[in-house]
Amino acid sequence: MELLNNQYVIDNVPVCDLIHKYGSPIYVYDTARMEKQYKRLENAFKGSRIKINYACKALTNINVLRFFKGMGSGLDAVSVQEVLLGLKAGYDPQDILYTPNCVSIEEINEVMDLGVRINIDSISILEQFGHQHGFNIPICIRINPHIMAGGNQKTSTGHIDSKFGISIYQLPHVERVIETNDMKVEGIHMHTGSDILDVDVFLRGIEILLESSRHFKDLDYIDIGSGFKVAYRDGDNFTDIESFGKSLSKRFNKFSSEYGKDLTLIFEPGKFLVSEAGYFLARVNVIKHTTATVFAGLDTGMNHFIRPMFYDSYHQIINVSKPRGKTRIYTVVGYICETDTFGWNRKITEISEGDVLAFKNAGAYCFAMSSNYNSRYRPAEVMVHKQKDYLIRKREELEDLTRNQVILDNIL
Ligand SMILES: *Cc1c(COP(=O)(O)O)cnc(C)c1O
Repeated sequence: MELLNNQYVIDNVPVCDLIHKYGSPIYVYDTARMEKQYKRLENAFKGSRIKINYACKALTNINVLRFFKGMGSGLDAVSVQEVLLGLKAGYDPQDILYTPNCVSIEEINEVMDLGVRINIDSISILEQFGHQHGFNIPICIRINPHIMAGGNQKTSTGHIDSKFGISIYQLPHVERVIETNDMKVEGIHMHTGSDILDVDVFLRGIEILLESSRHFKDLDYIDIGSGFKVAYRDGDNFTDIESFGKSLSKRFNKFSSEYGKDLTLIFEPGKFLVSEAGYFLARVNVIKHTTATVFAGLDTGMNHFIRPMFYDSYHQIINVSKPRGKTRIYTVVGYICETDTFGWNRKITEISEGDVLAFKNAGAYCFAMSSNYNSRYRPAEVMVHKQKDYLIRKREELEDLTRNQVILDNIL
């Protein structure tokens, strides 16, 4: 989003026009921004043989999946439903890696039957899978290297108390299960959580992963998951992908030649690819003065956009109806019957009721986490592609709330 001739535009499409056309609130995704991030990652690692698997739980609209497929991406899926969406979007099953956590062996077998690659996250599942399929179905193993790369306990998945992955200290047990069942391990995986704030700590995690990889003789790929952090506000720390790419490529190529095979390095970014491409637009219903605060109350709430309340995440808020002018201090809140505060004490150009506010960094884990709480309809989604806008998900209506309800006609 940028200011052009005194109006905000997304790839040349005026933001206020989008609200007039599609109503409020809406999510808007800019494919030019997704492409830029994808290319950045490709370029940063051009010295190595890499594959990017878009972690689609961040934003599962099928058009977004199709867009990344067009860029040459594979897919990281965490549920059988995401796998089915990926197949519907046209992904080859072998370009999908399924990385579930605490799901049943039945679901894993269902995904295996679809021809999708399987990543195993516990010794119990490894044993069951090994008994059933042995050498026939190659697998990937998710290791927990026990590093804390930054971020908090909610988003970090690599620390000692995390439920994710198989602890590196259990590798001897893993090897025993593999040998006994004559299993083929084609990949080693880790995903340590959302924020690589300290590249050195992350590289240490990779050392551990590479060290464990030497135990497996049939590897085709090493998957280092994600954790690429983007800035949510000025001055935020973010992953310096270009310098990270240089040091990791070098390290990986050295490992690959020691291993004696052209291994592929896989990444699974979600946030990095889509966070900055997304905007959430909503209208101001009321301005409410209390003794100490001026609230701007929107026609949306935590039901549509929960990250600020769930993760304490900071999202920049812009009054797109007033690109210029004096700023005042507002606390921006939702209309849900909960305390759903989007931002405290924000400096925003003076707001009138009816103005449209835009939240930045609303591409990842925003629509994907929306709900119908308070029986509100989920918003529409719009894609801006090559300077044109397209509706990619209709706003819900009453029918969507009642569709699966079974009304006890003759009883109540
Ligand atoms: C969520 C997830 C990702 C993506 O994480 P981001 O922080 O959005 O980049 C990658 N891999 C796995 C296994 C995940 O669960």
